[in-house]
Amino acid sequence: MSGDANGKLGKHVVVLGSSMAGLLATRVLSERFEKVTLVERDALQDNPEPRKGSPQAQHLHVLLARGAQVIEELFPGFFKELVEAGSCPGEMSDAAWYHFGQWKARAQTGVIAYSQTRGLLDWKVRQRVLALPNVTVLDRCEAHGYLTTPDKSRVTGLKLQRQGEPEMALDGVDLVVDASGRGSQTPRWLEELGYPRVEQTIIKTDVAYNSRMYHRPKNHKASWSMLAVYADPPNGRRMGVLMPIEKDRWILSLCGILKDHAPTDEAGFLQFARELPKPDIYDAVKDAEPAGPIVVHKFPGSQRRHYDQMARFPESLVVLGDALCSLNPIYGQGMTASALEVMLLRECLLKQGPGELSGLAQRFRKQVPSVLLVPWMLALTEDLSYPEVEGQRPPGFGLMRWYATRLHNLAAHDPEVVRGFANVQHMLKSPAALASPGILWRVLTSRWSSPTT
Ligand SMILES: Cc1cc2nc3c(=O)[nH]c(=O)nc-3n(C[C@H](O)[C@H](O)[C@H](O)COP(=O)(O)OP(=O)(O)OC[C@H]3O[C@@H](n4cnc5c(N)ncnc54)[C@H](O)[C@@H]3O)c2cc1C
Repeated sequence: MSGDANGKLGKHVVVLGSSMAGLLATRVLSERFEKVTLVERDALQDNPEPRKGSPQAQHLHVLLARGAQVIEELFPGFFKELVEAGSCPGEMSDAAWYHFGQWKARAQTGVIAYSQTRGLLDWKVRQRVLALPNVTVLDRCEAHGYLTTPDKSRVTGLKLQRQGEPEMALDGVDLVVDASGRGSQTPRWLEELGYPRVEQTIIKTDVAYNSRMYHRPKNHKASWSMLAVYADPPNGRRMGVLMPIEKDRWILSLCGILKDHAPTDEAGFLQFARELPKPDIYDAVKDAEPAGPIVVHKFPGSQRRHYDQMARFPESLVVLGDALCSLNPIYGQGMTASALEVMLLRECLLKQGPGELSGLAQRFRKQVPSVLLVPWMLALTEDLSYPEVEGQRPPGFGLMRWYATRLHNLAAHDPEVVRGFANVQHMLKSPAALASPGILWRVLTSRWSSPTT
């Protein structure tokens, strides 16, 4: 094992994938390794343009408050810079949000989320990461498999191929981190090495995002800066979210679950917006000038790979981000979940002695389910409220749904409930905060109010 006496764990670590999970992982690994190499299939440009390997970047991407906290901790001053570049911070009092048949109360929560194109967010994080003196990038470079010790018990590198060049071996590294997204090949590569196939859970929801950017009309006046009209499960399957982004634009994502997808033609797209439970999004964009085409992204469902349950798993390999757990995007949790996994990796690294890496991979894979518990549960509870969605309902699911529905009902007029809800949704507080004595009392004693208009 390489490493030295000045607190470094090793000489060289390789991170596969330069999207949010890979970039944040590179940042924390740069603290404990002499050199970090970031491998990316795409050409990395010094601009915010979307890349082939990040097709979701053309769709609405909100960074939840907890994710923002982590990024600010890793890159002090980041959000000042991001806002100067056009990012639009906002909280519940800025948002008109129709959910469960009610407009939520416009309460001040202090819970700030950031809206911008995903390209801008990634570019700004990438600039910070690439400025680190011990980080090197290998872009236009695709990974084809792992290199290991002869007994295959430890990953020692990657088989790589740069565009237009023969395959090469990047061997002799101390740790490999797979942050290559939902399409990660680790399940297959491990199987080829003689490991069992990792079990995975998929909660099939067949979601599609149809998105379009608009120039925000100069004379536009509204009490909101963000507008969301959500489905009312289990009946409604359609939702729309209109968010401000840099350069005085809006991004509109129209989402349909269980194959109830928005059309891709202009008239059908607008009609879908008009037929949402409230027509406010349609009213806002119908005369706005489009700033791009209608783009589509299909998402089969939340997916989790259970590396923690494998009887055997190699040393010196960590899998995180969407490669480990890819969450239904309509809840906006993916980047924040990745950020929390990276912070767990940082904690695990801190527990290793100088020059000592043994046990790290096993510790991380065993502990990461504790980080995923809440985001997975939040996404699952909403998805499984559709009877057509297959998946085991947890014990007490009916009671949970009853409680959640009453909470949403209360959130139409009770600022305290809105604050509790915002803190949980943004992963700042545990869902237990929504069963605090104050909120529990309100839920149990409130009279049922009819939907607002
Ligand atoms: C439509 C949509 C909307 C979303 N909205 C939100 C939102 O509002 N808020 C939020 O927090 N999250 C959202 N997400 C989720 C978010 O995009 C991801 O969770 C986030 O990008 C973290 O993913 P990642 O970094 O693990 O992987 P990815 O973003 O998928 O990146 C993987 C990277 O690995 C590279 N790569 C892959 N294979 C190889 C290989 N073999 N060799 C070299 N490089 C490789 C790819 O080119 C890519 O750069 C959304 C997702 C979708 C699909």
